[in-house]
Amino acid sequence: STPTMDTLIALCKRRGFVFPSSDIYGGYNGFFDFGPLGVEVKNNIKQAWWKDFVHRRDDIVGLDSTIIMHPKIWVASGHVGGFSDPMVDCKETKLRYRADQLFFQEFTFTPDGEGDAMNHFVVVVEADDMNTALAERASKVARLLGKQAEGKVRAAPADGAAVIEFTESTAEQREAAFGPDATTAGTLTEPRDFNLMFETKVGPLADKSATAYLRPETAQGIFANYRNIVDTGRVKVPFGIAQVGKAFRNEITPRNFLFRSREFEQMEIEYFIQPDADWKTLHREWIDKCIDWLVSIGLPREGIGEDVHPAHKLSHYSKGTTDLTFRFPHGVQELWGIACRGDFDLTQHQEHSGKSMEYFDEQQKQKYIPHVIEPSLGVDRTFLAVLAAAYCEDEIPNDKGTPEKRSVMKFHPRIAPYKVAVFPLVKNKPELVEHARKLYERLQNRWNVFWDVSGAIGRRYRRQDEIGTPFCVTVDFDTIEQGTGVTVRDRDTTQQIRLSEDELFNYLSEKIDG
Ligand code: ATP
Repeated sequence: STPTMDTLIALCKRRGFVFPSSDIYGGYNGFFDFGPLGVEVKNNIKQAWWKDFVHRRDDIVGLDSTIIMHPKIWVASGHVGGFSDPMVDCKETKLRYRADQLFFQEFTFTPDGEGDAMNHFVVVVEADDMNTALAERASKVARLLGKQAEGKVRAAPADGAAVIEFTESTAEQREAAFGPDATTAGTLTEPRDFNLMFETKVGPLADKSATAYLRPETAQGIFANYRNIVDTGRVKVPFGIAQVGKAFRNEITPRNFLFRSREFEQMEIEYFIQPDADWKTLHREWIDKCIDWLVSIGLPREGIGEDVHPAHKLSHYSKGTTDLTFRFPHGVQELWGIACRGDFDLTQHQEHSGKSMEYFDEQQKQKYIPHVIEPSLGVDRTFLAVLAAAYCEDEIPNDKGTPEKRSVMKFHPRIAPYKVAVFPLVKNKPELVEHARKLYERLQNRWNVFWDVSGAIGRRYRRQDEIGTPFCVTVDFDTIEQGTGVTVRDRDTTQQIRLSEDELFNYLSEKIDG
């Protein structure tokens, strides 16, 4: 079962996967740092993606473009004009909410006597289990106000916040009803557009011409380089350009840990196709490939869903978008957006830059601006999904054979921070330690390997289970005296097998590298 977000956040901090950014200064909302284990997992996700979508394909090439680009790019792409979320402010507390994440739910309190006239007010409730929290608070309010109160609940279950709006009340009643964990507030403003791009200045001039933006997506760097890549002559439509890199969005309400942050990483592909290609079939193929990839890094197939955007929700240039969703700790949410963007972006850049984006198709003997399919995946969201999927508590027999609770991260070997741990059985036998150390160094040439000499073997296994190391290799007396190889213990089954050191390398590379 999926762990709660609080469990994951605590585990991430305790074991060194993820820390709040600027932790010693109390953290910084929407920013996170990846610790010693986290950086390994994150790199493994990015490397697995690059290997499968770039190295293992002959129709996709890579790119690494800059984070700050010519500001005209963001005018052409529509981000300067339209990359915004509707925002409402609370007039009293100045707290901000995304208006599209609030929804209204009508409710009526049961009449319970007569009370004073109440003022219009809004209450913001933050809780994990929104339905229970709302029901409890609604009945409490009804009791305290002692009369019928009609109102609306604006709830944002995805983000764990709710706004309850009543028509009448006194400050004391609100305080008594909602306590310190709720923010009582005045009315909300009308929604207004809030641009999510972070602005900065480039160069010594402080005027408007110096304004530039931190990229809110990596995709536009790809479109801006499309011409250069076509001109280098190695690619033919259909082909793709892939990029992994940082993106920045000044999210109004960054929430749910790594799910929505202000600085994150994306792995994006623009896959260019002929304008008259059967885009529906190609789109479907991409969706299936993306699902397969998520499964290949250890996400359970049953946790992955498809959310097909209905026609009225599509952006004007999009022919079709399907989001792959995942069962995150806070609910089923978007993980991977797979959009058919037509020729919108290249056409825009052709208009704004004055440079032709036409492609000459030698087979068809014609010129066209290619259309594009865009699979866009967040590294941090993938990280969160991988972590939630790996988290597991089970029971295994201890040294004496009695069942013992164990906490284990069942990472797919491709994603695990350490692939192998090497233990000399005892630490006071120099010959044995030296032999193990040599094996450790040989393995290190290939993989990230953990070295541990301290404590009973059982405890050392448990330590590796906790951080998700899939294999533990023990060098014992038979290894050095009889030359009978080493033991390899499997994290998930806890079974041990004996292998010669040469067999060990083959065994591990098959399991780890696939
Ligand atoms: P939302 O509607 O949730 O704000 P979006 O639909 O605008 O997201 P896209 O622009 O499609 O998101 O971004 C592509 C991918 O980038 C998303 O599927 C997600 O994996 C990732 N992503 C987007 N915004 C964030 C963020 N603030 N934090 C972490 N990852 C993000």
